[in-house]
Amino acid sequence: MTEMILGVTTCDKCDTPMKAGQSIVIIGLSTVAKETDVLEMPEPEIRYACHLDCWDGVEVDYQEVEARLN
Ligand SMILES: [Zn+2]
Repeated sequence: MTEMILGVTTCDKCDTPMKAGQSIVIIGLSTVAKETDVLEMPEPEIRYACHLDCWDGVEVDYQEVEARLN
C-alpha cells in the first residue's frame, strides 16, 4: 500500500478534520508517464480532499463562488 501525505487535515467541503478510519475522496492531478497494460504515472499532486459523505461530485461549489463574486 502506498501512503500519501496530504497537505491539509480538514475536509474541503465541511471544513472539519478528517479523522483516522473515515472514508475520504481524493482528487489527484498527474500525468501518464507510460502506456503499457496499465497506465504508469508519478505520484499525483493532491488538489482536493473531502469526506466521502460530503462528496457531491464537484470540486468547488461554483454557485457559492459565483455568489461571492457578484
Ligand atoms: Zn466533510
